Amino acid sequence: MKAKGLDHVAIAVKDLDQVMAFYKDAFGLVPDEQEEVKDQQVKAAIYGHGLGRIELICPTVSDSSVAKFLEKRGEGLHHICIEVEDIDAALAKLKAQGAQLIDQVPRIGAGGARIAFVHPKGAHGVLTELRQGPKAP
Ligand code: ZN
Repeated sequence: MKAKGLDHVAIAVKDLDQVMAFYKDAFGLVPDEQEEVKDQQVKAAIYGHGLGRIELICPTVSDSSVAKFLEKRGEGLHHICIEVEDIDAALAKLKAQGAQLIDQVPRIGAGGARIAFVHPKGAHGVLTELRQGPKAP
């Protein structure tokens, strides 16, 4: 299995507009894209193109997993995402190694890519998203 690299880091925030204003003031960054990801019940501000993006994610409902994360741990790093060439092979390998997976099979994530989450317990303490882009058929 070969990975292409860091696709993005996602930071959970409570108030997207407020944090976007902070990113602009503090870092001179404006989002390249904004998207609502219905499946994950978040709205996202995406900085950059290609590998190495930053995503600010903010829950759109109060009982989503990101909302619960914010309640429990406050704002901060939510997950990292690794772009892989073959997400099915990557998942099968992790499964064979006994890693704890959140998604047993890939689902469709932001931008229409196929994604799957590996539990922090299966990835040395960091919630890790695997992604195979660009777009699912
Ligand atoms: Zn992500």
